[in-house]
Amino acid sequence: MMLADVAMPWDLPRWDNSAMDGFAVRSADCTGPARLRVTGYIPAGGLPTGPVGPGEATRIMTGAPLPPGADAIAPVEDVEEAGDAIQLRGAVRPGAHVRRRGEDLRAGEVALCAGTVVGPGEVSVLASASRLSVPVFRRARVAILSTGDELVAPGQPIGPGQVCDSNGVALAAAVRLAGGEPIDLGIARDDRPALRALLERGLAADMLVTTAGVSAGDRDLVRAILEELSVRLVFWKVDIKPGRPTAFGLRGRTPVLSLPGNPVSSLLTFEQFVRPALLRMMGHRRVFRPLQRAVLLEPLARSPGRVNLVRVRLSRRADGALLASTAGNQETGILKTLLRADGIAIIPVEQGNLGAGEAVSVQLLGPDLVEEP
Ligand code: AMP
Ligand code: MG
Repeated sequence: MMLADVAMPWDLPRWDNSAMDGFAVRSADCTGPARLRVTGYIPAGGLPTGPVGPGEATRIMTGAPLPPGADAIAPVEDVEEAGDAIQLRGAVRPGAHVRRRGEDLRAGEVALCAGTVVGPGEVSVLASASRLSVPVFRRARVAILSTGDELVAPGQPIGPGQVCDSNGVALAAAVRLAGGEPIDLGIARDDRPALRALLERGLAADMLVTTAGVSAGDRDLVRAILEELSVRLVFWKVDIKPGRPTAFGLRGRTPVLSLPGNPVSSLLTFEQFVRPALLRMMGHRRVFRPLQRAVLLEPLARSPGRVNLVRVRLSRRADGALLASTAGNQETGILKTLLRADGIAIIPVEQGNLGAGEAVSVQLLGPDLVEEP
């Protein structure tokens, strides 16, 4: 994400040049199938050695500068070569196959604006401007803390009653995909001193994300300790399913997002709350996933009273309309339904059960995930 505009130091292309391998000609000579003398040669990286005079042509390679006098290119495919001469098969109009100086970008023109994400195309423009570096937003450092007495780190011996901490690595991957830099704080036990020490460390990052320990369980201590650490609670409990226990607080300008522990809930609430916040912190203007209308292929029973985030598969009808069907069991314990999903249907609170053929609004999780039905 760039912090400042980048203006071109020169025209691009830097000179009028040939768009084809062929012959630089004077179009006035070429109103029909003319015969011209070849008097010069300009390879790529070469320079014209002299002008193209009347009745003359210069052999030229793609990208090489147009010689003085010439105003058009006759591509090799359109001529018959005969020793030192060429025979045109037809007329060559003025400007044919010539790329004009500055036709892409002009000297002084802003080629890339502040707020642009630097991708392959932007890198290409920067290189064409001979720029080696540009000021950018740094990646936001996001501390990630898993909490819970039942958790063990993946790869460690696992005993009865224990589960692998999958949220830590899953959220780290999600942070990385969003352009942030995860800081793994590991696992905090459900006890005050352990939690407090790790939460305090996490507050030194640009953002702190925790999972679990924010519902109403007797060991759900995260919120209370955050408040002791001067985190001002902005909201707790959101009317969404899954994801209800999500909490958001601020210490100064540092956002703290406490996500539910359930792996599906933590990833879905990351999508809804953490990713947009993270993108905004890094200067992005577009922070939300695109929403698309999709037609339900099957009825959809909803849980009343909350916005439902339904994992759906998408396909495309012959007329181009998007079709949505459930990606599988919507229980929050079923991670594989999330893996099968192309998008998240957002069912508003006031919406009742939906029938096949009704339209829903779907958040697309990726750009090109739609398969043919
Ligand atoms: P909690 O929010 O503490 O009530 O946890 C809800 C559910 O998510 C429980 O089944 C936890 O075992 C599970 N869970 C919590 N944290 C994690 C984690 N980091 N990785 C995998 N599962 C977790
Ligand atoms: Mg717990």
